[in-house]
Amino acid sequence: MIYLDNNATTSLDPDVARLLYRQALEGPQNPSSQHQLGRAARRALDNAIISMGTLLGTDIQSIQGTRCILTSGGTEANNLAIRGILPPSAPRFLSRIEHPSVLRLGESMSLNGTRVYWLPVDRSCVLDLQACEQIFSTVFKEEGAPFSGAPRGLVSVMFANNETGVIQPLEKLIPIARSHGLLIHTDATQAVGKIPVDFDTLGLDAFSFAAHKFHGPHGVGGLLLRSGLKADPILFGGSQQLDTRPGTEPVSLVVAMAEALRLASNQMLDTMSRTAFLRDRLERRVVESIPNAIVHGGSANRLPNTSCISFPGIDRQMFLIRLDRRGLACSTGSACSSGSSEPSHVLTAMGCEQKDIDSALRFSLSRFSTLAEIDQAVDLIVSCYNKLKIA
Ligand code: PLP
Repeated sequence: MIYLDNNATTSLDPDVARLLYRQALEGPQNPSSQHQLGRAARRALDNAIISMGTLLGTDIQSIQGTRCILTSGGTEANNLAIRGILPPSAPRFLSRIEHPSVLRLGESMSLNGTRVYWLPVDRSCVLDLQACEQIFSTVFKEEGAPFSGAPRGLVSVMFANNETGVIQPLEKLIPIARSHGLLIHTDATQAVGKIPVDFDTLGLDAFSFAAHKFHGPHGVGGLLLRSGLKADPILFGGSQQLDTRPGTEPVSLVVAMAEALRLASNQMLDTMSRTAFLRDRLERRVVESIPNAIVHGGSANRLPNTSCISFPGIDRQMFLIRLDRRGLACSTGSACSSGSSEPSHVLTAMGCEQKDIDSALRFSLSRFSTLAEIDQAVDLIVSCYNKLKIA
């Protein structure tokens, strides 16, 4: 199978798998236990978290430093941040191209009385900063509340989009949001491990990530929270993680996640240029053979591994099934919506035509993708396209 669905999930790096196995065999590991085994588990957990902080551009070691709340993955981190950092009375500003874990949460919060505002993107899938400024100004003008310095709301815009790979202009959004007294959360689930991210330099307040997107294990991720901020828990139980996220921490998974991040970071520059070369080759060869194919977000700053292509006139589900039968795994969008025939909310937000939305497939590479696989993938795409066109 040629696997070009790495934005849905990645394979576990064999070196990470070996470390996970070794760590799991260290014995019982409850970091809250006071005995030697518990203390050893605590040390392993703390070291893993500190090392991830360094790789993500922040200091987790000092008392005044950033906090890392361990979660089950990106969905939980997003829910914890967007729901919990401010009370429900504070407005939330969410982009229209967010992952369903943000969109559905926003819809639910809105039904429960929180004011939720949706931020638009342009045709290239880039956040419309002028519109953001206008929306922030209008909301706070209507509210008439003077800006006293205390946070007045929260904006959540993803670091990079999971369907098109387009990287959002956070460095430009942050000063605008700050000038309106907003806290800033970013869902960096697709960016971490693929492109450099720097929590402190960007000046973020909260940041979600998940290990299975960078060749780490499933079921573990985290939320970075700037010092001084707290998130109200969404689960209740023990007092682990300073009462923010109860439950025994999965030490082996966290150690493996930190190792996966270390490996991804060590190889990042090389992986970025290699996957960009392979992705560009795939797009170039597809467009040469299928001239009416449309590459979405092609002119924008994108993740080097992601390609979203429309094949007007072809049904994307049929295309995906045919490619799958021939041995190529790709996607019709985010993993949560693939399998259903829901049209892409991302392409819809970009203002794409219906025929382009109906025929869009996503191909996402990883550091394990090879030139031979990409060339074979192009041949399969072109051959299946030609068969479907005449069917
Ligand atoms: N955010 C983005 C941008 C994603 O692509 C995904 C998964 O596809 C998630 C959040 C959800 O992450 P998880 O599956 O780890 O809960």
